[in-house]
Amino acid sequence: MAKRALHWFRDDLRLSDNQALRCAADAETTCCIYILDEGEGRRPLGGASRWWLSRSLEALSTALAQKGGRLDILRGDPAILLPALAKAAAIERVTWNRRYDSASVALDKQLKEELSGTGIEVRSSNGSLLNEPWRVTTRTGQPMKVFTPYWRAARERGEPDAPVPAPSRLQAPVLPPSFGATLHRLAALALEPTEPDWAGGLRETWTPGESGARERLDDFLDGALSGYALGRDRPDRASTSRLSPHLRFGEISPRQIWHALGTARETARAAGSAADSEKFLSELGWREFSYHLLFHNPGLGVRNYDERFDLFPWRLDAEAQHRWQSGQTGVPIVDAGMRELWATGWMHNRVRMVAASFLTKHLLQDWRTGEAWFWDTLVDADPANNAASWQWVAGSGADAAPYFRIFNPVTQGETHDPRGDYIRRWVPELAKLPAKDIHQPWKASASALGEAGIRIGETYPAPIVDLAFGRQRALAAFETIRNT
Ligand code: FAD
Repeated sequence: MAKRALHWFRDDLRLSDNQALRCAADAETTCCIYILDEGEGRRPLGGASRWWLSRSLEALSTALAQKGGRLDILRGDPAILLPALAKAAAIERVTWNRRYDSASVALDKQLKEELSGTGIEVRSSNGSLLNEPWRVTTRTGQPMKVFTPYWRAARERGEPDAPVPAPSRLQAPVLPPSFGATLHRLAALALEPTEPDWAGGLRETWTPGESGARERLDDFLDGALSGYALGRDRPDRASTSRLSPHLRFGEISPRQIWHALGTARETARAAGSAADSEKFLSELGWREFSYHLLFHNPGLGVRNYDERFDLFPWRLDAEAQHRWQSGQTGVPIVDAGMRELWATGWMHNRVRMVAASFLTKHLLQDWRTGEAWFWDTLVDADPANNAASWQWVAGSGADAAPYFRIFNPVTQGETHDPRGDYIRRWVPELAKLPAKDIHQPWKASASALGEAGIRIGETYPAPIVDLAFGRQRALAAFETIRNT
């Protein structure tokens, strides 16, 4: 048994179902570290993610202390810091959970070689996926390109392993004094905004950390899971799990969710609503598929998966992008979504699709501009899900929505927010309009607008683009690359 082990926390900010941590916890002492790596080659975290990370590290630190452990925080290049710390503290075993973006894969390989070369045992585990991205393949061993066969093949692999419990005890080591100067207090990382402090809505909405994640899951299993298959498309209701940021930071694992759902599935089957659980699992499947795509296509966040789109005639319109970002396009469902995002760091999936389609199709803005905005403002901003979803909506992705299927934001709003409650919540200047007008206020009668106190172009913008014109322009743009 190793005497001194080190666990490197990354996107696995939890104690339970953490194989790699358990493996380090077997040792007499376990050094637990987090390294804030903002160096070249790493995409800096967005503002909302930095806020989440700060709160999540705080929760992790408390949870570790309750077990007798301690979280040490460093800042810099793991390729330098990790071997130096391992050497200074005479560490015999180093553990971590894998990441799947190309920079991390390369870093892991380099560290593994270097540490093993000095006689340190290195163990990496899968802490964030049901299946490693290389395990699910076509019959001929190729990466998958289409979701349905991907998910079928993934399901055929059977149940994932049962989650492992949290270590019962951790013994923090005394670190060599030479390392004191390298350690950072969480506050010194300045991850949370101060001037201005824009995180009020995030604080009101979320409880980052492992206990917060578990509570969300329990609430979901007791509540919105029943009816999820149909309800998940309703932004006017709390109809989805909202587990995405917890999954993103590894405060809960998909294995834990799968097995918790197993029990709920039995009850659901008895109640005749197994479809809800299956649908929910398939959404986790989309997350798995996104990681599969990212692993096999390292440029997913920056390069068109479908290379025909390299020639797509995107327009560059900073004013249009700004109006989209600030929820001032004059198209209510888009504005509601963008304002929900700004206030809470999250947006309902259906509205993400509509807002992303509006940006890339009606406004013809490059999907990468939208991806970057989401990256900065989402608390669940995820290198795989964000990139794969943007490409899916834009039409350039794997198994993407066909380009000619352009979401009509008015009918989307009328279908999925039939009473207009979602609009009323996030676009209060339209709150007094009746449901039949709220999704296209520019068509409301003068008297309806007058009674609701709305002057189009003054109290609420006129639509930034005529929807029929925008649609035709997008189709014409696609024609230019269709046969390339
Ligand atoms: P639920 O419906 O409760 O689903 C459970 C879990 O399944 C989610 O937490 C998530 O991990 C996963 N999931 C659900 N839908 C999808 C999907 N379409 N693709 C991949 N995984 C999914 N999700 C992110 O986690 N991070 C992102 O950065 C992100 N960016 C997106 C950008 C666009 C343009 C679009 C259209 C979607 C994006 N999504 C992203 C996917 C999806 O919108 C969110 O995962 C979902 O809204 C999270 O809410 P939830 O946890 O309540 O989902």
